[in-house]
Amino acid sequence: MSKIAFIGLGNMGGGMAANQAKAGHEVVAFDLAAAALAKAKGQGCKAAASGAEAVKDAEVVITMLPAGQHVRAVYTGEVIPNALKGALLIDCSTIDVESARAVGALAKDAGFRFADAPVSGGIMAAEAGTLTFMVGGSEADFARARPVLEAMGRTIVRAGGPGSGQAAKLCNNLMLAISMIGVAEGFALAERLGLAAQSLFDIASKSSGQSWAMTSHCPVPGPVPASPANRDYEPGFSTALMLKDLTLAIQAEEASGAPSVLGRHAQQFYQGLAERGLGGKDYSVVGRELSARR
Ligand code: NAD
Repeated sequence: MSKIAFIGLGNMGGGMAANQAKAGHEVVAFDLAAAALAKAKGQGCKAAASGAEAVKDAEVVITMLPAGQHVRAVYTGEVIPNALKGALLIDCSTIDVESARAVGALAKDAGFRFADAPVSGGIMAAEAGTLTFMVGGSEADFARARPVLEAMGRTIVRAGGPGSGQAAKLCNNLMLAISMIGVAEGFALAERLGLAAQSLFDIASKSSGQSWAMTSHCPVPGPVPASPANRDYEPGFSTALMLKDLTLAIQAEEASGAPSVLGRHAQQFYQGLAERGLGGKDYSVVGRELSARR
């Protein structure tokens, strides 16, 4: 049993902290939102009055926060000045690579172990403990982090040194964002050509047009019963979160000088969906949007 501090108990962190408590660890939790903290208390965590208090005796500190500025503020203001030296710090938030590397360097300089470990999988996977973790950190820090992450996930992969977990997440979601638009465009063309969505699916899912966006999150209703398209595009993975990740990916392309061909177009496209009030729908709502376009 370890003493774990958990900061950020929102949609994702709430379920993840509960799974650490279920695994038998002593979890001291903190969130700025009183309701989130009360829920964690009901799920076996102890409530702390601040992030600083949560981390003070912890062997492991896990953060699951909205964005880079929150992680930087919590690390510099609460975690690094107050945590036990030598503790393992794991940030599971999805943030920019630069912030991940910056907090990782601060942590290392102050004598902590550190890993960035963003996740793939949504709220249901966070509750079920079936997340995928993409981990950036030294081999020794990864070995220490793995058993901690196993209480919250099913697949745990080391991507490389500090910041590499975030890099993997952004590259993956850039590819997914673009491929979903391609799949939806194919289905929209099929519709205009009088080709049934099911026929296209049966053929393309066994041909060179096959992709995860089509076979798991098929953007039109029918061919994949579990896809969000069959439940009015309830997420799943929301357009707003896809836009967030895509924006981080485009910023990383700009900062690193990597070519941006379709990423920018995809970003504008999802931005347009969000501006039309579809930010809360699954990102595969692109299928309905293209089908309706004249
Ligand atoms: P959320 O907004 O539901 O939760 C974030 C929580 O952090 C909130 O409860 C907020 O009160 C708390 N918080 C903010 N600043 C704080 C501070 N200084 N101290 C303590 N608590 C603070 O967000 P979420 O959906 O849980 O997502 C968390 C992270 O996981 C994000 O980076 C997101 O991109 C990523 N992510 C989300 C999903 C998803 O499906 N929701 C999937 C994969 C990754």
